[in-house]
Amino acid sequence: MTLVSVNSPTSELQALDAAHHMHPFTTAQDLARKGARVITRAEGCWLTDSEGERILDGMAGLWCVNVGYGRRELADVAQRQMLELPYYNTFFQTTHVPVIQLAAKIAELAPGDLNTVFFASSGSEANDTNLRLVRTYWQEKGEPQRDVIISRWNGYHGSSVGSGSLGGMKGMHAQGGMPIPGIHHIDQPHWYNEGGDMTPEEFGLERARQLEAAIEEIGPHRVAAFIAEPIQGAGGVIIPPSTYWPEVQRIVDKYGILLIADEVICGFGRTGAWFGSETVGIRPDIMTIAKGLSSGYQPIGGSILSDEVAGVIAKTEFNHGYTYSGHPVASAVALENLRILQEEKIVERVRDDTGPYLKTKFEALAEHPLVGEARIVGMMGSLALTPDKASRAPFEAEAGTAGYITRERCFANNLIMRHVYDRMIISPPLVISKEEIDILISRAWTALDEAHAELKAQGLMKAGRR
Ligand SMILES: *Cc1c(COP(=O)(O)O)cnc(C)c1O
Repeated sequence: MTLVSVNSPTSELQALDAAHHMHPFTTAQDLARKGARVITRAEGCWLTDSEGERILDGMAGLWCVNVGYGRRELADVAQRQMLELPYYNTFFQTTHVPVIQLAAKIAELAPGDLNTVFFASSGSEANDTNLRLVRTYWQEKGEPQRDVIISRWNGYHGSSVGSGSLGGMKGMHAQGGMPIPGIHHIDQPHWYNEGGDMTPEEFGLERARQLEAAIEEIGPHRVAAFIAEPIQGAGGVIIPPSTYWPEVQRIVDKYGILLIADEVICGFGRTGAWFGSETVGIRPDIMTIAKGLSSGYQPIGGSILSDEVAGVIAKTEFNHGYTYSGHPVASAVALENLRILQEEKIVERVRDDTGPYLKTKFEALAEHPLVGEARIVGMMGSLALTPDKASRAPFEAEAGTAGYITRERCFANNLIMRHVYDRMIISPPLVISKEEIDILISRAWTALDEAHAELKAQGLMKAGRR
C-alpha cells in the first residue's frame, strides 16, 4: 500500500484517490484525468487545499456548515462524549442523556406542536423513515389505502432508494429501478424556467393547483402526504412565487393529507428563521432535518413529528430504526451546535444584518450581462445564467454547459460556488462576515466576467428554445 499523509504531493494524493475512492455524483474516468482538489483544512468560511490555496467556501460544504469550520467547542464535546459513552442504541427500551437533551431541544426550537423526534444519520434515511411513517400513520387510522405520496419533479430528498424516489431527479431515476411505486410527481414552482408568459404570482397558483388536480386524479382517499422543500436546494435554489405555499397549505388542509416539509437545507437558520416553514408560512405535520442540525460536524438527521402524528404512531410498534439512530456523539455535537447558533444569535444575524447585506450585493449580480435573475432568501441564493436576459432564454448548448464553465472560473478564483445546470448557487456558512461577503461577490463577478468571455469565444452565447 502507498503511504500518504497531509504533506504528500498533491499528485500522489490524487492518484491514490483515483485508484481506490469512488466519488458520489461523479464520472470517475473524467475526474481521474483531472485529479480531485484535495482539501486539507478549514477555518471559519475558508478552506485550504493541498497546494496551500485559500478558498472561500460559498457552499458551506454541502449546505451544512452553518456555524463555520474550526469550532473547538464541537470537537471538545465529541471527545468528552466518546470517552463517557461512545455508543449505545435506543432500540430495546434504553436511552441516553445526549439523545434526551437533543430531542427536547429540537422540540423547543421547532414551531407549533412538532414535539417528537425520530433520529437517523442523514437526510436520506430520515426521508425513508417518513415514507414508512406516513403510510403506517394511515394504517393505524384505519385508512390503509392511503399510500400515495405526492412530491415534485426536480425536488431533492436524498439518494437512497426511498428518498431518491421521493425526489424528482430524472437522472437518478434512470439508474437502479427508481422511483418505487406509490409516488406521484407534480411540476415544480420554477417560474424563471417554466413560467412562460405568466406573472410569477399566476404561475405560483397554477403550480400549487397541480397538487389539487393530482389529488383529484389519484382519488382523495388514496393520498397520504405531500412532501416538498420550502425552498428547493439541490434543484437550483428555486424560490417559489409568494402565492405558491399559501395555496398548497389550503389544499393539504382541504383534503386532510399530511404535509412533510423537507427542511434538510432550510432548517437551522439558512433562510433567516429557524426553519424554512416559518419563512414561507406553512404548518407541516412532519419535518425532515439533517445538515445544519450538526453543522456537518457529525452525520445526524431526523424526522420531527406533530403531536397528532406521534400520538397515532405511539399506539403501534413502528418496525423501523437505524443502528445509529440518536448516536450519542452525534447527538452531543448537534446539541452543542444548536447552543452556538442560539447563544451567538446567528439566526437573528442572518435575518437582520448579514442576510440583508448579502441580499443587496447578491441581487446586484443581476446587472451582469450573463445573469438573467439573482434571487436569495437568507443565505441561500441563485443566479440564472442566460444568453438573452429579456426573454429568459436558455442556452442552445446542452443545459449545464455554461454553468460548468462558470463553476470552473469560480474554482480558479478560489471561490466555491456550485452550478445546477445553468444556475449558479450559493449557501455560505451563516457566520460569513460582511468583509467576506464583499470578497465572495467580487470573486463571483470576476468569475462571471471570465465565463462570459469564454462563452463568447466558444460561440456559446446563443439562445435555444425551451
Ligand atoms: C441533502 C438533502 C437530503 C439528503 O440528505 P443526506 O444527508 O445527503 O442523505 C434530503 N433533503 C434535502 C432537501 C437535502 O438537501
